[in-house]
Amino acid sequence: MNWQVISEQIESATGQAFKVLSAHSLAGGDINSAYRLQACDKSYFIKLNSADLLAMFEAEFAGLQELARTQTVCVPAPVVCGQTAGHSFLVLEHIEFGCSSQATDRLLGQQLAQLHQQQQAYFGWHRDNTIGSTLQLNRKSDDWLTFWREQRLGMQLKLAAKNGYSGRLQASGERLYNDMAVLFDSYLPQPSLLHGDLWAGNAAVDKQGCPLVFDPACYYGDREADLAMTELFGGFSQDFYAAYQAVWPLDKGYAVRKTFYNLYHILNHLNLFGGGYLRQAESMLTMLLAEIN
Ligand code: ADP
Repeated sequence: MNWQVISEQIESATGQAFKVLSAHSLAGGDINSAYRLQACDKSYFIKLNSADLLAMFEAEFAGLQELARTQTVCVPAPVVCGQTAGHSFLVLEHIEFGCSSQATDRLLGQQLAQLHQQQQAYFGWHRDNTIGSTLQLNRKSDDWLTFWREQRLGMQLKLAAKNGYSGRLQASGERLYNDMAVLFDSYLPQPSLLHGDLWAGNAAVDKQGCPLVFDPACYYGDREADLAMTELFGGFSQDFYAAYQAVWPLDKGYAVRKTFYNLYHILNHLNLFGGGYLRQAESMLTMLLAEIN
């Protein structure tokens, strides 16, 4: 990899000289390859992917900017994104990770609730983004159920059909698609700014004890969708949830709706990674349809 173009872009974005001394490959990303780019007094975190995926990095860059603007949750500062001959790239402030504690868990819970208190007049966002590597539509809508039906559940079900998952999944999915309003009988979602992809792998704590979130898939939507995802793969503590609820308690119907929201991510995993997630999606649908009838 020739780091010349990227280091020049860093220089013009920051207005400071940046002469690369070394580049270390980092493990961990699901989608992109990651590097630490080191100069004598500064380092940056770089994500690389193929040149045609620039829009994915532009959306991540915009998401980090939007989260940072709220001054609620902390994020790595986005520096620049762009293209070289063979790659698209995203440059972020490099974070040295530290250890979480009860105090940092509580702080993150509180900050997430404060993030969700940042609201808009519409559901959606000013641009589409990606969830994993799947396109996530964010066309603005006044109506949450229409937004979710068309741009979340319906979109993933259609993709699943294209990927060959027909039969029971589609039949149950269609019933949920038609009858999902029942789950919202006595609950009116508000358009909160969401991280959008908040699993434990996208949250950490820096060396100074400041919790951080990264790799967002932002949009304005029901905050329950963000909370649900924190529960999907685990990793967030009771302190985190207690601190969240102390700022902004959740509606009791969340207990059922969290499965509804997480179905989106399980369908996305089915579409990205294949068959293992089929049974999980089907059993979530069975549970949800039992609630509806
Ligand atoms: P991907 O989009 O490929 O999933 P992530 O944004 O999740 O990549 O980053 C992959 C890993 O790199 C994370 O799990 C985290 O450990 C580390 N990481 C992410 N952002 C930074 C950063 N700004 N500084 C240092 N390490 C980071």
